[in-house]
Amino acid sequence: MILIVGGAGYIGSHTLKHLLDQGYECIVVDNLVYGHKDAIDDRAVFIQADLMDKESLSSIFESFCIKAVIHFAAFAYVGESVTNPQKYYQNNVCGTLNLLDIMLENNVKKIVFSSTCATYGEPQYTPIDEKHIQNPINPYGHSKLMIEQIFADYNKAYGLQYIALRYFNAAGANKNGLIGESHTPETHLIPLVLKAIKGDISIIKVFGTDYETPDGTCIRDYVHVDDLAIAHRIAMEKLDSYSGYINLGTGIGNSVKEIIRAAEIVSGKTCPVEYTTRRAGDPARLFADNSKAKDILEWRPEYIEIRDIIQTAWDWENNRKY
Ligand code: UDP
Repeated sequence: MILIVGGAGYIGSHTLKHLLDQGYECIVVDNLVYGHKDAIDDRAVFIQADLMDKESLSSIFESFCIKAVIHFAAFAYVGESVTNPQKYYQNNVCGTLNLLDIMLENNVKKIVFSSTCATYGEPQYTPIDEKHIQNPINPYGHSKLMIEQIFADYNKAYGLQYIALRYFNAAGANKNGLIGESHTPETHLIPLVLKAIKGDISIIKVFGTDYETPDGTCIRDYVHVDDLAIAHRIAMEKLDSYSGYINLGTGIGNSVKEIIRAAEIVSGKTCPVEYTTRRAGDPARLFADNSKAKDILEWRPEYIEIRDIIQTAWDWENNRKY
């Protein structure tokens, strides 16, 4: 069985569905603090537990024959991580250490981990490859980088087989209409743009129009959540032959204005926009060099066109299940 920790979250639930579709048997562990019970596919076993609760974790590993772990469980609000770093280091770092303790006790030595391009910090160049210096600028990014370091050390000392996947901006929703992106509070650009178009919020604030980019707004690499799901499955299957870290992005950058325009085309409606000042800590451009994912995982994103990605998010936004 495959254990998916944080399988009720956005990327976790899409990976879960993909693994089940591919014939894997899966158990989901999630504390449901930010995850949604309705996001968990009925075909999976679900156990509500927190990574701080080692007893529950232990009993799960004793009750099921776990072959590999895919670990998504983390707090991921950058701003909150600055004001409450304790929460981020406790949950993200200590939670992962607990999980690793129980894995090693039970001789489970395979893990795929959701890392982030936030571990790179302010980009020195783009596209960003894996050799780019890692110098996070907030506690969220630091917590993920610490975990990557722990994996590297556990790999040498205990033979832990790991792949840390450094995602760029996850976006979109599964085509079945049953799962999608749902955060409370929502802070991400694409869902907020779609909510503004629908009238669920009054306006989308564009954070900064004076960046050194062609249209003055920030450029990001939006990668479809189902492409991320596929990459997790392939990474899990590669653990016998590779341990390390791999970027996951399309390699294509889209500006905030391009996202708004694409959302207007997809929806056929106008998006109410307010141009405001920059948000602290936002680099002008972030997009991936994804050659390592292509080489090692033989992964290629199926969604390349931003309109196709936004179309799936728009379909979900209009018929959300949670
Ligand atoms: N952004 C924006 N208005 C918003 C939310 C985001 O202009 O209400 C911009 C943000 O400055 C960044 C891009 O959209 O350049 C993507 O932000 P998001 O929070 O979705 O992801 P991040 O890149 O911060 O992980």
